[in-house]
Amino acid sequence: MNFEDLIIDVYREVENLEGKGETASYIPELSKVDPSKFGVHISTINGGSFGAGDFEEKFSIQSISKVLSLILAYRILDFEIWNRVGVEPSGTAFNSLFQLEADQGIPRNPFLNAGALVVTDILLSNLENPQDDFINFVRSISNNDSVDYSKKIAQSEKDVGYRNIALCNYIKSFGKIENEPADVLDFYYDICSLEMSCRDLSELFLFLANDGIDPKSNREVLNERQSKRVNALMQTCGFYDESGEFAFKVGLPGKSGVGGGIIAVHPDQYSIAVWSPKLNKKGNSYKGMRFLEEFTTGSELSLF
Ligand code: GLN
Repeated sequence: MNFEDLIIDVYREVENLEGKGETASYIPELSKVDPSKFGVHISTINGGSFGAGDFEEKFSIQSISKVLSLILAYRILDFEIWNRVGVEPSGTAFNSLFQLEADQGIPRNPFLNAGALVVTDILLSNLENPQDDFINFVRSISNNDSVDYSKKIAQSEKDVGYRNIALCNYIKSFGKIENEPADVLDFYYDICSLEMSCRDLSELFLFLANDGIDPKSNREVLNERQSKRVNALMQTCGFYDESGEFAFKVGLPGKSGVGGGIIAVHPDQYSIAVWSPKLNKKGNSYKGMRFLEEFTTGSELSLF
């Protein structure tokens, strides 16, 4: 399969679409990002690498980082992590509160804000220097020392983080957060503020297409069973109340962020990252979804 020609064709087609939606205005710093940015990069397990558009420019990966915090917490707790957070799609928005009451503070899955706050709490309890240990972990699994937090974005989110404050305190009221909510939130905003390019992302996530092993360094990031499960969660929960739609149209495990990025993984083939900041009503990149829909359809490769 010649992915390069297909990427160029689909990029041109989607680039010219009228970009529907808005940048994430609820985080002031994110609303300043140029909405016309558009990049894509693919990495294949046999060493292929190709990008188009703004694929080397770093952007705020936001909730894509929830996969990274989950991976680190999963390495620490293994299956016991599932006592703290569920594995069911929620069918709700990413920042929803209401299921927590019936579920007694156990979030439905780790990709909701509620679930990611619990995962952040686990990291806070288990890491010696949480902020440093987490960034060092991300740098080491991506073989990339240029990955960093954006203090500006983290602060901007913290300034208006009323919903996340409510979520974290509510979970704490059920006794399901171990640390002080203010500390959990600070670390959560740092994690969400990671900045990476499409190239950085597709290279980093390639291990999920290769049974947990980074094909470049041959290092095991997750064991095969864990890698299978993270892919399953991305497939069923990666796009909140649009997870069904993403599976229907794109058909790959993936994860979105309100910075407009999406990472998607085709097991045994490739990982691909797309970035376009305008979001649809569900908080997922409008052009990113369109690109991936056309790309997977055009590639005639499918999990289904
Ligand atoms: N940092 C964002 C928040 O907590 C992440 C949301 C997202 O990317 N979907 O609201």
